[in-house]
Amino acid sequence: MKKVTILVPCHNEEESLPLLYETVTGLMDNEPKWKEYNWELLLVDDGSIDGTVQIMKSLYEKDKRISYIELSRNFGKENAMFAGLNYAQGDCVVIMDADLQHPPHVITEMLAKWEEGYEDVYGKRITRGKESWMRKHMSLLYYKLLQKFVRYEMLPNVGDFRLLDRKCVDSLKEMKETERYTKGLFCFMGFKKIGVEFETQDRVAGHSSWSTRQLFGLAIEGLVSFTTIPLKIATMLGILVSLGSFIYMICVFIKTLVWGEVVRGYPTLLIIILFLSGIQLLTVGILGEYIGRIYTETKRRPAYIVREYRKSESGND
Ligand code: UDP
Ligand code: MG
Repeated sequence: MKKVTILVPCHNEEESLPLLYETVTGLMDNEPKWKEYNWELLLVDDGSIDGTVQIMKSLYEKDKRISYIELSRNFGKENAMFAGLNYAQGDCVVIMDADLQHPPHVITEMLAKWEEGYEDVYGKRITRGKESWMRKHMSLLYYKLLQKFVRYEMLPNVGDFRLLDRKCVDSLKEMKETERYTKGLFCFMGFKKIGVEFETQDRVAGHSSWSTRQLFGLAIEGLVSFTTIPLKIATMLGILVSLGSFIYMICVFIKTLVWGEVVRGYPTLLIIILFLSGIQLLTVGILGEYIGRIYTETKRRPAYIVREYRKSESGND
């Protein structure tokens, strides 16, 4: 019997976790398609400060299908997922959120596609749940931009809800960068992909752990770790400004020769200085983003640290 791992990163999910457990195990026990597999429900606690870990432990005690990883602190969802992929036992891994925004019954469809031979079955949002207008449109614009500059396909409206074949999991494990942008890595790794549509549900309980600032950080991460557009922007700006200044210089030169020059032009001078230093700061900042990344990568620190791991026994007996 093939084994399927459901990987769930959890950060302060004490309210959603019992509901998630009920729903998922309900399907495991009753859904005919699900009964054809051995299941592992791998919960990764990403440094929660509420009762999430206690709940995980009690679930582990009563259900053999549960595994859990407790990280030593909050490492962020990207790293929590990476930890999960490293410990997952299944022949395929389904990644989903703890808040039931990813409806578990869609996994049935994903499994069918997997059986057809697809290696990366991703969930495609047809609605985005409750979200502000701004956030939605910014996100769509962002994906358009990203797609323009990356050579492989970047899929918009695709989150982390997906089924990955063992081959994909192994290749993701090979990508050891510490600043992970998983959405990009999924696209980078290739393999046979297909989408399964689903409606994003509203969160069952608790609240989203992402602040707008964190999302902005993630967006920058995507741009910088998958493209060099920011560097190109810097170069273009540099060329434009130098060209402009050169033309201006010639104008001034001719003007002085023809009409002479009294001491004036103080405002122009100031504008030029301010403008140029702005551009300089911008480009230095962009360079800094890349150098910062080189710095963190060279330290070769692990992406996460595990405090405790307990392995599910299902299907091994
Ligand atoms: N999450 C995590 N670590 C974090 C933040 C979030 O493991 O630092 C988990 C969270 O528990 C949930 C999933 O990532 O299972 C998605 O988080 P959330 O629902 O807050 O994000 P959204 O649905 O708003 O994108
Ligand atoms: Mg959510």
